[in-house]
Amino acid sequence: MKIILLGAPGAGKGTQAKRLAEKYEIPHISTGDIFRANIKNATPIGVVAKSYIDKGQLVPDEVTVEIVKQRLQEEDAEKGYLLDGFPRNIFQAEELDKFSNVEKVVDINVDLDKLLARITGRRVCPKCGESYHVTMLNGSTTCSHCGGELVQRPDDNEETVKSRLSVYEKQTAPLIEYYKKAGKLVTVDGDKAIDEVFKAIVEVLG
Ligand code: AMP
Repeated sequence: MKIILLGAPGAGKGTQAKRLAEKYEIPHISTGDIFRANIKNATPIGVVAKSYIDKGQLVPDEVTVEIVKQRLQEEDAEKGYLLDGFPRNIFQAEELDKFSNVEKVVDINVDLDKLLARITGRRVCPKCGESYHVTMLNGSTTCSHCGGELVQRPDDNEETVKSRLSVYEKQTAPLIEYYKKAGKLVTVDGDKAIDEVFKAIVEVLG
């Protein structure tokens, strides 16, 4: 199954992607995670990516498309994959169409006015990638899955989030129409409990 998870920052793509990748036994490919790993290892790609990510802007297409193109050539992505955070604009979608045949695009829909609070309250586990919201943590600062110390992503501050949301509206939201026209789009309501959203996605994927 070759799937794209679409949705604004904070819509829950990463959380759902982890679970879906496990269920369907396909690799979860997150361009954001790939960039963060590169930043951590101070690679040349990481240095370039950081300057854009810190401002809430998109990393240039030539860098991003090449990363995904190469990743999809790896053996584990042959029978399927779950793309999370890619494509993020029409150009990237057109490039993807040239090297892979996506079957379904799941749009996780959440009202834009709810996203700022969702993202600025997000805490993530750097060890296992699990994500939480402060309101659910009851003051705890450790990951209930692996015990890792939770952190706030550097780009989850209010100023950067505002820029990310504006980039989403201008550049990424037009993908909804793009994939609707291609007959690949399915939409789920992302303003529900994590398990409910998961069930809805599994249902629409059939
Ligand atoms: P994410 O983890 O998906 O929220 O991505 C974090 C940041 O990585 C974004 O705000 C962008 O700066 C960058 N990024 C992730 N995916 C892409 C992409 N497909 N194209 C360009 N930049 C991206």
